Amino acid sequence: MIELRSYVCGSWSAGTGARQTLVNPATEAPLASASSEGVDLGAALQYAREKGGPALRALGFAGRGALLRAIADAMQSSRDELINLGIANGGNTRSDAKFDVDGAIGTLLAYAELAPTLGEARMLTDGEGIQLGRSPRFHGQHVLTPRRGVAVHVNAFNFPAWGFAEKAAVALLAGMPVLSKPATSSAMVAHRIAELIVEGKILPDGALQLLVGRPRDLIEHLGAQDVLAFTGSGDTGELIRAMPNIIKHSVRVNIEADSLNAAVLGPDVEPRSDMYELFLKEVVRDMTQKAGQKCTAIRRVIVHGGVAEEVRNDLAELLAVVKVGDPAEEETKMGPLATASQLADAREGVQRLGGKLAFGSAAPVGSKGFFLSPILVEGPGAVVHEREVFGPIASLIAYKEDPARIVASGNGGLVCSIYSEDQEFLDATVAEVAPFHGRIYLGHPKVELSPGPGTVLPQLVHGGPGRAGGGEELGGPRGLAFYLQRTALEGSRPVIAKITGAKQP
Ligand code: NAP
Repeated sequence: MIELRSYVCGSWSAGTGARQTLVNPATEAPLASASSEGVDLGAALQYAREKGGPALRALGFAGRGALLRAIADAMQSSRDELINLGIANGGNTRSDAKFDVDGAIGTLLAYAELAPTLGEARMLTDGEGIQLGRSPRFHGQHVLTPRRGVAVHVNAFNFPAWGFAEKAAVALLAGMPVLSKPATSSAMVAHRIAELIVEGKILPDGALQLLVGRPRDLIEHLGAQDVLAFTGSGDTGELIRAMPNIIKHSVRVNIEADSLNAAVLGPDVEPRSDMYELFLKEVVRDMTQKAGQKCTAIRRVIVHGGVAEEVRNDLAELLAVVKVGDPAEEETKMGPLATASQLADAREGVQRLGGKLAFGSAAPVGSKGFFLSPILVEGPGAVVHEREVFGPIASLIAYKEDPARIVASGNGGLVCSIYSEDQEFLDATVAEVAPFHGRIYLGHPKVELSPGPGTVLPQLVHGGPGRAGGGEELGGPRGLAFYLQRTALEGSRPVIAKITGAKQP
């Protein structure tokens, strides 16, 4: 069994006391253990502030971009090893594990490419300068500078590589040192990535630390210059947001949480058309990829009443050929859920949804491992708009006239996908659902190579209001703002121009 270690204050620490066991979710075989007991978390954060921050800031944007490229290269060189860890520890099929690892590498490279465009100045300008008085000399300019604290990243279990990389890429490029805490149950992938970075001496001392095991009092050590980016359940997010030191020190917090993502089929879409087939394909992919354990997965399938029966039958037919099994076997199309508690939660969630099971069953599959079949619920109760069931589960909901109202009752989501070619319907629906979402995906069969609504792209923002946590990550240069302080400079125009000498993000 592998003993996972935290990397803090420049060295590896196995922790003390009782250890948590990480298993293979397909076989329940123990794989590794982790403990954060005995790790001095306050000292780790101080180490980042004193060593990592100054070293990163001294490098400038292009220098930091080169570091991101080096991390991506190291991951690329060990890609197969990382994919195999995702299969063993995450219950991922090979394709699921590639989605995670390649998504991580792609995001690091996207930010590495952005870096040289930001110039070499110590600060970024934010928007145009503004003439403040009658004379053009009296001038204002907003600028952005890296915060002097540490970026603490707390990640969910479902994307151990991408979750680590998408946060680290942005923070490191902005010039903030990172302390990353992967979810314990699937920490082997992030642990190996951290080992690669440390073994390759890629980053300056203190620029990246890793905490494996329980978070303990980590959040309580955060102060006014630190930031916290959290991804996980809404319940944990709520708890963290309300912690006294977070409130007292106005710690900047970004929360990425639950989401009841909807896919809407327009009333113009005829069964068997290319648009209809695309819609079916993307619903099935979202239900089964990573066994539905994607924050962006379609949970509510909203179709016109006139085609609901046909959609139900077609989805059931497509789900019937999805082979559920050990992801180590090549013919498997869907692996298990990540943990016993995820399986129990998903099964209980299906009972709470009510309605009728149009496909699948909430009974566990097999006697070992955390397997569940894909499940399509028809006519669920109102709870479908209130509770995310995190697994291969979606609900079919029929509308008569106003799908946007149904979508909005989910109270805030990461992504809503709309499939229609009726411009009037698109105009009205986009305008109505946009305030409730961070992203709207407009499905179209002529868009080649689209990865579908479930894939988060580094160029576009990821996050959403309300239930989705109210956060925003990525979005190309937009993502940097979380790690930078915006300051208004007010004074003589030539003086300000000399100070900034900078490019806009
Ligand atoms: P979780 O139980 O909330 O855990 C998330 C992370 O928080 C883990 O690293 C966990 O550590 C840590 N944590 C737990 N209690 C904490 C505390 N008191 N202080 C600091 N950290 C704490 O969520 P999960 O089960 O891993 O993830 C599933 C959920 O994440 C789903 O609801 C999914 O929708 C959501 N998700 C959202 C996004 C998004 O971008 N919006 C992306 C992926 C997943 P331990 O593992 O050590 O307990």
